[in-house]
Parts: sequence; C-alpha cells; structure tokens
Amino acid sequence: LALRRLAAQQVPRLTVLAGPTAVGKGTVAAYIRENYPTISLSVSATTRAPRPGEINGTHYYFVSDAEFDRMITDGELLEWATVHNAYRYGTPRTPIEDSSRRGESVLLEIDLQGARQVREAMPEARLVFLSPPTWEELVRRLVGRGTESTDEQQRRLATAQVELAAQDEFDEVVVNDTVERAAERVVELMNTL
Ligand code: 5GP
Repeated sequence: LALRRLAAQQVPRLTVLAGPTAVGKGTVAAYIRENYPTISLSVSATTRAPRPGEINGTHYYFVSDAEFDRMITDGELLEWATVHNAYRYGTPRTPIEDSSRRGESVLLEIDLQGARQVREAMPEARLVFLSPPTWEELVRRLVGRGTESTDEQQRRLATAQVELAAQDEFDEVVVNDTVERAAERVVELMNTL
C-alpha cells in the first residue's frame, strides 16, 4: 500500500475536460490558456481543416488522413475518436508523458469517447464534466453560434442528450454559467489534485 501511495505521487497530474457540444469547452480551455501559462494544454491532432485564426501547433496539429492513420499505427495517440461523425481527433502521447515527468499539470479538452479512453489508459486522471446551466441554454448556445446547419444542429443535440446522461461517470461536474467562473473552478480543481 505504501508503495502504491508513492507511485500515486508520481503519476501525471492529468485533468480531462469533457462535456456536450456547444457547452463551451473550447472557450473555457482558451481562457485557461490565456490566464494560466503554467498549465499545459494538450494539443490534439485532427483531420479537420483549420478555422480562421487557428494556428497549427497551438490549437491543433492539422494532419492529413494518412498521417492520422500513421499516428494510430505507430501508437503515438493516447486516445482518439471520430467526433460528430466527421473528423478524427486524438491526443499525442509524448507531450503528456514529458509534462508529467516534469511534474506539470496537463489539461485535455476532448470529447466523451476520448474521456472514457483516458480513464481506461490512465485511471489516475481526473475527469471533469462541463455542464450547461440548463438544456435550453445549451440549445441557445448551439443555435446562436450559427456554425452548423439545422440538420447538424439536430444531430448534435441528440448526441448532447446522450452525453448529458454520462456525467455520473465523471469525478467532478462544473456548470458553465460564465466562462470565467467555470474556468476558475477547473483551475481550482487542478490545483487540488
Ligand atoms: P472542434 O472541431 O470544434 O475544435 O472540436 C470538436 C470536438 O472534438 C470537441 O468536442 C472537442 O472536445 C473534441 N476534441 C478535440 N480534440 C480531441 C482529442 O484529442 N480527442 C478527442 N477524443 N476529442 C477531441
């Protein structure tokens, strides 16, 4: 038991932030990136194209399908998933191992499928679920950002309904009422790991 405790002190201080579509995971992660430079944010690989303002290596590593296949084959990804039946996203393993060796706190902003894989691969990781204040507010945010077609919105809301039911699997639930409050709460949780 003593040995297990010792080992537990050396495990990565890994926090996973997941939650339904449009809840504001990306915005909360961006707030933390801006205000807490000592927290390292994992940079995922993705097969989708960059949006205006997104920087390769900062927001994502934008890779081809072939390169993503290679990363899977070579075991470079800690977890990966196809999100919203569209593009693939995955967490590179090496930066996380490096950060944890240096004792840094790492935050992963990933989807629910990814969160479950991290739980399997690293049971010591802390899973934080970002939840909307109300269902109506989630619908308002998704429709309000206007980046998806009506069909796609319907599809995402159906997924969101299933995802909201999964919050019991998480260690902590943080309500995203305002970005600042939610982000500060996530940081506070990370500091008590
Ligand atoms: P977006 O394309 O809007 O940046 O992200 C779409 C979704 O992909 C979000 O729900 C985000 O959490 C998820 N995502 C981003 N990176 C990863 C990753 O590395 N792994 C997994 N499983 N999901 C990710």
